[in-house]
Amino acid sequence: METQPVVVGVDLGATSLRAGVFTPQGQLLTVDQAEIQAEQGSEKGVRRITQLIERLVAGVPGARLQGVGVGTTGPADALTGVLINPGTLPGWVNVPIAARLQERFGVPACLENDGDAAVLGEYWMGAGQGVSRLYMVTLGTGIGTAFVVEGRLYRGAGGFHPEGGHQVIDPDGPPCYCGARGCWESLASGTAIAKRAREALADSHNPLAQNSILRGEAERIDARDVVEAARAGDALAQQIIEQAADYFGMGLFNLLMLFFPDMILLSGGVMRNLDLFMPAIQGWVEKSQPYLPSGQVKIAPAKLGYYAGIYGAAYAILQRVNPPG
Ligand SMILES: [Zn+2]
Repeated sequence: METQPVVVGVDLGATSLRAGVFTPQGQLLTVDQAEIQAEQGSEKGVRRITQLIERLVAGVPGARLQGVGVGTTGPADALTGVLINPGTLPGWVNVPIAARLQERFGVPACLENDGDAAVLGEYWMGAGQGVSRLYMVTLGTGIGTAFVVEGRLYRGAGGFHPEGGHQVIDPDGPPCYCGARGCWESLASGTAIAKRAREALADSHNPLAQNSILRGEAERIDARDVVEAARAGDALAQQIIEQAADYFGMGLFNLLMLFFPDMILLSGGVMRNLDLFMPAIQGWVEKSQPYLPSGQVKIAPAKLGYYAGIYGAAYAILQRVNPPG
């Protein structure tokens, strides 16, 4: 039988595990997911990962596995392939995931932060193909940032992943779990939007809150409810979204001025409502134009959605097996 060289990309999240088998040219041959059940500990978790990979590779006729890449919720040490102690996977302390996979499959394995994996995926097969300086911002429960320069991940000191979501936007802003105040993600993330809505609804002196369709729902409100209410014409929700969009644009402006990327890709749950954020984003982009002429930077939605992580993890291990130029 003819053999087919393949690599596997794995996306390890707090609740779900996804893996895909790819050709070196970037064709996704098969993909599946499983529950990670993180609370059962890292031993069982690693076994779930290897079982999912075994099952997927066995389903590809003639597959010859060349490597396994994993994108994970951080912090992760990309140079040693060790998952350090992610808040989202409690009890998973210093798990040498890359070494374990290498041992099990007898091929190179690597570990990347999930934001880094996502931008690599978009560079390889998504909305940022071939873009020299590709920045990506993921706006979900938090804000993640990642940067690819000439096809290579920008790595910080020690190989660590820079945390653009914790740039300070307002020193008088709300406290963030990182220890600072008014971080980008504490002002513009989905979590921040929901929190601001709950606070506003609890304020009996706020006339918009008294007339809001969200009134009475305060306890279980999430960012999606606020977005939907804004679309339905609710003045309080519109005010909250406009403010979050303005903060979001402010953070993008900082990144724009620091890096002058060719393209900024936007992804994550909130970006499914990009139209609500775009006027504020455009306003901030225009402020950069004395320095960065119009049209030099493109701001666009990412393309691969939930699959960006597996594409990028696969590309990360391909780059290590066959280093680019
Ligand atoms: Zn912070």
